[in-house]
Amino acid sequence: MTELTLADLDTYDPRPQIHGGGERRYSCPLPGCRDKPRDRAHQCFCVNTNTGLYHCQRCRESGRLREFWTKTQPAPSTAARRAHLRRQFDMKPERDPDTPPILHADRIGVPVADSETAVAYLKRRGIPEHLATEAGLRFTHMREGQPAVLFPMRNENGSYIAAHARSIVDDRKKTRGPKKVCVFATPAAFNAHVLAVTEAPIDALSLALAGLPTIALIGTIAPPWLRRHVFSRRVLIATDADDAGEAAALTIGKELTAFGAQVHRLRPPDECKDWNDALVTLGYLAVRSFLESHDVEFIHPMAGHDIWDEYDPDDYQLSIDRVRRGESVRL
Ligand SMILES: [Zn+2]
Repeated sequence: MTELTLADLDTYDPRPQIHGGGERRYSCPLPGCRDKPRDRAHQCFCVNTNTGLYHCQRCRESGRLREFWTKTQPAPSTAARRAHLRRQFDMKPERDPDTPPILHADRIGVPVADSETAVAYLKRRGIPEHLATEAGLRFTHMREGQPAVLFPMRNENGSYIAAHARSIVDDRKKTRGPKKVCVFATPAAFNAHVLAVTEAPIDALSLALAGLPTIALIGTIAPPWLRRHVFSRRVLIATDADDAGEAAALTIGKELTAFGAQVHRLRPPDECKDWNDALVTLGYLAVRSFLESHDVEFIHPMAGHDIWDEYDPDDYQLSIDRVRRGESVRL
């Protein structure tokens, strides 16, 4: 393991970028990046000063700063320490008063329940009206006139400043607003101890229906802020079962693992290309029992990590009612 301290980083690059959640970004001092200039544009070495965990986005090296290395885990305080750390990494779904929304994605069109067309379309995709309503879905028309379901997207502060519209009559999709810093989230996903990550919002709703709070990236790239909120959380990477989905699972999994997430690959069942496909072809009960019985695999277990228990799929207590009430689902 590379021995690296915060002092080493400050010496190598005295002007790091300071971000929320204790995150700093330095020029990367590791061998794979040594030949790069030490300037703003090359500060891709992210370190969390609360946990000591680091990850370089260029050379993909990750680890923990030396001052955070521990010999043994003090057993009695584990739960308290974990709860304390979790609070530090809680996402805040309330609005940030300093950032006025550019796009009021939660006010475009009308609530989805007001449109029979939209409700019928979602029903064909296996998504009941109550879940769509609780997830904030809207009904609108696209610029070209097609009726569409609109999925509001939130930034790190919980502001609905982007929106993803999906046509009901053809395959057209359109995203407006700063989608790179936004995600679509099902009820409770922002604060859940275990959450899944999908590409499409319809896949996120399909998993939420089975009791798993889920964030949809609308694509395969996670917003940079996501890593600040995954410490000690279980993150199930539920991207599509195709080359792009597998590649994204590895990239996202490696990055989130470096920032303290316990990451697993949650691949759609055989013959299903994504989780909505699974819901539509296999049915809700099959998806639910698949999740309950699936022996999820580690995709990037971090060598020497000592603060998480092994994942036990038998502990997987899914609770739709609690998701509906917007509460966290605990393992
Ligand atoms: Zn590097």
